[in-house]
Amino acid sequence: MFLKGAALLLLIVLIQVALCAEDFYKVLGIDKHASDKQIKSAYRQLSKKFHPDKNPGDETAKEKFVEVSEAYEALSDPESRKIYDQYGHEGLKQRQQGGGGHHHDPFDLFSRFFGGGGHFGGHGVRRGPNVEVKLGVSLRDFYNGRTTEFQWDKQQICEECDGTGSADGVVETCGHCGGHGVRITKHQLAPGMFQQIQTQCDQCGGRGKVIKHKCPVCQGQRVLRRPTTVQLTVERGSARDMKLVYENEADASPDYEAGDLIVTLTEKEPDLEQDNPDRVDGVFFRRKGDDLFWKEVISLREAWMGDWERNITHLDGHIVKLGRKRGEVIQFGHVERVQGEGMPKWHEDGDSVYHNTEFGNLYVEYVVVIPDQMESGMEKDFWALFEKWRKKVGVDLHADSGRPDKVEVHLEDGQSHDEL
Ligand SMILES: [Zn+2]
Ligand SMILES: [Zn+2]
Repeated sequence: MFLKGAALLLLIVLIQVALCAEDFYKVLGIDKHASDKQIKSAYRQLSKKFHPDKNPGDETAKEKFVEVSEAYEALSDPESRKIYDQYGHEGLKQRQQGGGGHHHDPFDLFSRFFGGGGHFGGHGVRRGPNVEVKLGVSLRDFYNGRTTEFQWDKQQICEECDGTGSADGVVETCGHCGGHGVRITKHQLAPGMFQQIQTQCDQCGGRGKVIKHKCPVCQGQRVLRRPTTVQLTVERGSARDMKLVYENEADASPDYEAGDLIVTLTEKEPDLEQDNPDRVDGVFFRRKGDDLFWKEVISLREAWMGDWERNITHLDGHIVKLGRKRGEVIQFGHVERVQGEGMPKWHEDGDSVYHNTEFGNLYVEYVVVIPDQMESGMEKDFWALFEKWRKKVGVDLHADSGRPDKVEVHLEDGQSHDEL
C-alpha cells in the first residue's frame, strides 16, 4: 500500500515536471541574480552552441536553441523578467495574450547578435572581417591565471530598428537605380561612339534600398559602434603570444555573418602601482617559455664566506628560500636552478582532476657586489690579514702562468713602426 502511494506520488511529480517548462535561469545556466551582462553572455555562448546550422539533424539541439532564445527574451527585458520572477511561465503567457511583449523568431534574435540573417556561413552568406585585438597581461596574471574583462568599440546591429535602418520598418526599393545600387550613364565620345560609365547610385548609396523615415538611433546606418565588454580568461601558464578566438564576435552587420574576434595576449611591463599590490618580487621575473629568471645581488662576504639567507616572494606570494651555509662559496655569475619554481605549464585540461600542473624552473643568477669603499681601519685590517696569509700560502698567479715578465710586441708583415 505504501509502495503504491509512493509510486503514485512519483507519477504526479513526473507529470508536473513534464508540464512546466524548464526554468529560464537554468536554461541559460545562470542564477536568479545574474546581471544583464551575464544574461547576454550566456545567450551568446549557448545560442552558438545549439544553433541548428552547427548541429544538423539534431532535434534536441534545435529545441535547446529555441529554449535559449525564449529564455533570453524573457530575462533580457526588465519588465518581463519581473513578471517571470513573480508569476513564472504562466505570468508571461498571460502577458503575451494581453498584448504585452512580443515574440521574436529565434533566428532574428540570433542575427541581432551575430548578423548574417541568423545563419552561419556556407550558404552564400558573406562573412565579415576578423578583428584582432592585442591585450597586455601582467606576468602575475599569466602565473596565477585570471578572469577579467576588456572593452572594445564593436559594430553592433541597431536594436532600435533591428538592423533595418528604418524608424517605421518601411524599406523601399530605390526608384533612382531600380534597386541595383548602380546607374549606367552613356557618354558620347564622338558621333556614334559611346562610353558606358557605371557609377554608384547617389540616392541610395549603392544599397538599392531607401528609407523614408530613418531610425533615430542609428540615423539609418543600421549599425552602431558601441563599447562592448568581453569576458577574458587567462589560463595559468598561457603562452605569452597565445591567441584566443571568439567565434562570430567581431563586428556585426545585417549584411554578413560576423567574423571572429581574435585576442592575442602579450606580456606587459610590470607596473609597480597597478600590478603589485602585495609587493612581490616575482613581478620582476623574466619569463622564457616555462622558465623564470631572476638576478640576486649578494655581498662579497656572502659570496665568499656563506652563512646567509634570502626570501623571494613569488608571483602568488609564496616564499622561495635561497641561501648558503657557512663556508659555501658562490662564484660571480653563478646560475642556480631552483626546480619547480618556474611558470605553471599550460595544459588544455587546465587544473582539472585529469591533470596536475607541472612547473618550469626558476634560474637565479648571482651578482656579487665588491665594496669600492672601506673605512681606513677596516682596509688596514684586511690588508694586514691578506699579507700575512699571502706570505704563508700565497699563490703568484703571474709566476704560475708562465708568461714572460716583459711582453715583447711583434708586428707582422713589415708593418713595424721602427721608423718612428
Ligand atoms: Zn539607388
Ligand atoms: Zn536603427
